[in-house]
Amino acid sequence: MSKYPVQKPGFSTRAIHHAWDAYAGAGDLNPPIHVSSTYTFPTVEDGGKRFAGEQQGFVYSRVGNPTTALLEQRLANLEGGEAALVTASGMGATAALLWTLLQPGDEIIADKTLYGCTYSFFNHGLAKFGVEVRHIDMTDPANLAAAISAKTRLVFFESPANPNMRLVDIAAIAAIAHQHERCQVVTDNTYCTPFLQRPLELGADFVVHSATKYLGGHGDLIAGAIVGPQETLLRVRATGIKDMTGAVMSSLDAFLVLRGLKTLALRMEQHCRNAQALAEFLASHPKVEACHYPGLPEFPQYALAQRQMAKPGGMIGFELKGGFAAGCRFMNALNLITRAVSLGDTESLAQHPASMTHSTYTLEERAEHDISEGLVRLSAGLEDTADLLQDVEQALAAV
Ligand code: PLP
Repeated sequence: MSKYPVQKPGFSTRAIHHAWDAYAGAGDLNPPIHVSSTYTFPTVEDGGKRFAGEQQGFVYSRVGNPTTALLEQRLANLEGGEAALVTASGMGATAALLWTLLQPGDEIIADKTLYGCTYSFFNHGLAKFGVEVRHIDMTDPANLAAAISAKTRLVFFESPANPNMRLVDIAAIAAIAHQHERCQVVTDNTYCTPFLQRPLELGADFVVHSATKYLGGHGDLIAGAIVGPQETLLRVRATGIKDMTGAVMSSLDAFLVLRGLKTLALRMEQHCRNAQALAEFLASHPKVEACHYPGLPEFPQYALAQRQMAKPGGMIGFELKGGFAAGCRFMNALNLITRAVSLGDTESLAQHPASMTHSTYTLEERAEHDISEGLVRLSAGLEDTADLLQDVEQALAAV
């Protein structure tokens, strides 16, 4: 939709049409998948100008490609950002952004609950190159106010956090971070997608995504994205992606994410419907110690969820009475819900952090990060609600 036919088009209209003119060129309804690794220059002078950034056009697909460029325009639009940069994975997005922004001697402050590989990247990757990494409990913004210093370059968090569903007040954290001139805020918006939460509108400087999850939506690709200011993303493209990580998204994956985006709003509505029904059932079940879902009125940050998220999302964390053994028995008794990591797919997926994603933590580390032994993480898929409830009920009976 390069020429907007309607004023202020809604989310789904933009997710389907933004930046694509279906009447132009060959009249493709859907954008073609551009597979060239390299692009031609009519003359050596044109080549020189493209290298210097003085002429529009593509040079080499590690730096840019028409299919990935379309996805970038669409994601920037949906997140309300100036520009976007798509990457080979969610980890590729975080790594390319942070390698570009940070230098030895800088400090970053991250929430204490993070996706496991992000935690490893910070503490075993960045820390090895002289970046100081501090973790605080960001559910209370006062902890950031106490920890931040003139050395702090970045504040990083997820909301809701993986896997225990704690929320971070994005506007409050951004306000504190921005009291320090050189401090920028990065939100991992994977769990919500821009349909449910737009951190840039709340004051964050950058959004990163694992597009592997809801944005792609079908469990058939690995992809990532960064959204933020154009000037910085040009630097991330020219250094973080081109020279440092090479974490380039392929045009086929870009096409699949573009296709996924077309149904994002519809899918998110059903993910949320299923998660709400499952969370309500789990919360009242005698074998469940606690159910963490932002759509339950008893969720400790329910008011923040109502303020910050359009809907409570498709992810649930719940703790079984009986700890580790109960978690394993529940997992093994599932019939329809699939035992697998990842999330945001059409299939409902369950994982047991203590025996899977967080099994490398010691017992003490898991306790310190609020990951109990009986915690199960459930990604509510798109199946019929009644079927999912039936499966959870029979699996709980086996515990
Ligand atoms: N951020 C979150 C919240 C995640 O759950 C994941 C993966 O599970 C990632 C980032 C990393 O994404 P990817 O697997 O696409 O590299």
